[in-house]
Amino acid sequence: MIVACLDLEGVLVPEIWIAVAEKTGIDDLRLTTRDISDYDKLMKHRLSILDKHGIDINLIQEVISKVDPLPGAVEFMNKLREKFQIIILSDTFYQFGMPLMKKLGNPTLFCHNLVVDEAGKIVDYKLRMPDQKREAVKRLKEINFNVIASGDSYNDTNMLSVADRGVLFCPPQNVINEFPQYPVALNHEELFNYFVKAEKEINS
Ligand SMILES: [Mg+2]
Repeated sequence: MIVACLDLEGVLVPEIWIAVAEKTGIDDLRLTTRDISDYDKLMKHRLSILDKHGIDINLIQEVISKVDPLPGAVEFMNKLREKFQIIILSDTFYQFGMPLMKKLGNPTLFCHNLVVDEAGKIVDYKLRMPDQKREAVKRLKEINFNVIASGDSYNDTNMLSVADRGVLFCPPQNVINEFPQYPVALNHEELFNYFVKAEKEINS
């Protein structure tokens, strides 16, 4: 049995913070790791903006409940789970990710946690561990699973590097340029075909 490890945002659903920015009209929330490379600074910045606008976890979850999977993602998941065990490895938070899992057929999600106070205010965040995508793939291999991984961005390249096979999904050009060793799938049909081909290679 092969485990399929998939990134969430950019592969199965749109970027969550961008969706929150769009639906709340707060442009400051559009900043990503491309604008502020220090993740801790970026998250603290986001939390201060939420605080300033009085946006609590309930409002964000309401916004997220209206976010739909990317076109083709649900069909892709349905086909993939017939052939593979699927684990979503994401750097999002359970409070954001779980409402989206329902729409994807409730796959297993490994991600991080937000610290929320009793009033629903997001006061902090807690990474479950650093570089968890890479660590999860490494551990799966240690217990004798083969892993095929896919993601769209920089935070996925470490897990691709330790998986048996890795494929980028609709990555930005700079990621393609910096990681020419990985094949690129441009839609979910190509991605599914890549998984099937990689499975054959691993099992041959
Ligand atoms: Mg992503």
